[in-house]
Amino acid sequence: MQAFEAVQHYFNKGADELGLDASLRKLLVQPERELTVQIPLKRDDGTLETLIAYRVQHNSARGPYKGGLRYHHHVDLDEVRGLASLMTWKTAIVNLPYGGAKGGVTVNARDLSKEEKERVTRKFVDAICVVIGPDLDIPAPDMGTGHEEMAWFMNQYAKYHGFNPGVVTGKPVEHYGIPGREEATGRGVGLLTLKTLSRLGRKADGATVALQGFGNVGSHTAKFLTEAGCKIVAVSDHTGARRDPAGLDVMALWRHTGEASSFVNNFAGGEAIPAEELLELEVDVLIPAAVGGVIHSGNANRIKAPIVIEAANAPVEPEADELLYERGIVVLPDVLANAGGVTVSYFEWAQNRQFYRWTLDRVRGELDRTLTHAFDSIWDRAKERDRSLRTTAFTVGIERVAKATQLAGLG
Ligand code: GLU
Repeated sequence: MQAFEAVQHYFNKGADELGLDASLRKLLVQPERELTVQIPLKRDDGTLETLIAYRVQHNSARGPYKGGLRYHHHVDLDEVRGLASLMTWKTAIVNLPYGGAKGGVTVNARDLSKEEKERVTRKFVDAICVVIGPDLDIPAPDMGTGHEEMAWFMNQYAKYHGFNPGVVTGKPVEHYGIPGREEATGRGVGLLTLKTLSRLGRKADGATVALQGFGNVGSHTAKFLTEAGCKIVAVSDHTGARRDPAGLDVMALWRHTGEASSFVNNFAGGEAIPAEELLELEVDVLIPAAVGGVIHSGNANRIKAPIVIEAANAPVEPEADELLYERGIVVLPDVLANAGGVTVSYFEWAQNRQFYRWTLDRVRGELDRTLTHAFDSIWDRAKERDRSLRTTAFTVGIERVAKATQLAGLG
């Protein structure tokens, strides 16, 4: 199933719960604006390449559009549309005053030098800056981008509209960023993993975890869960997977992957296993924290973990989601599980607008409070109505967006 169709499928299940009429469904499902642009990239060797990039603004009923910029070779309009609509529901579910958007460039970020990334980012801003702004649409990091790209983004935007740090979030801490933004998504994933274990009457101490992906989200999730007493027994990245039933040395893996050309496959700890096997291990918790669509109808019946935490966006396809639900496997959906990133983006934006600096303690405290509140209310409502956490989360998100749309007036 295509990315946008998959989100529509989940949207329709939530809309069914609410008895939403067909005309409002159509309004809420369609993106409000889609921009496809060309990016001329002068490579370091002097050759010219033409890249295609997108910004999809899905919904703004609850506030400015918000969502990351992805530099990845799988990026296409359908994927960006799907991810933009996920952001609409995600920001509504955690009750942030934002709508949803996403952007992306079809390019393998690993193939670009730092200088090339800077040129791509500046050209991207040139192409989309007419629809971006601190009260209009606020980008952030996503796969293949980080604080450097956000700093270049802010600088390039200023050339058109004047200095305004609130135009983009996920900036370097020393340059209008906020402490705790980099760890935020992983911290949120870790925190909500502990809450899920606790709601199911399981102990965190000694709980075994298989983690797919060791980028920004995966590495911070691993660190948080290790500190909480969980055992990370398997980790993978794009190069391979390693397993140690006694628990991998996560901090050693952090140090290792922090060095150039050092990935999971050439890490000394544990034993190498085929990357696909990681998803099917007998563990307490499975955390896909890489690309979308990794759990599908072909492997859903082989998943043995009783808990799946969606740290990545859209890692479980709709057919697989049904199969896992029928088997009693608890899936904590992306729109809640990984909402820590955009939540701290909101704190950064608020801080930028006040020119006031928040401490790390305050960021963590507010993040934990926001996610705990969203998690508890969705968990309780799901139990009361005997629905999945995903359908319940979408129901809450759609209810808020529909309400805002009606309150603003449709005339
Ligand atoms: N890219 C992240 C996400 O998918 C963060 C978005 C943001 O901070 O605006 O939620």
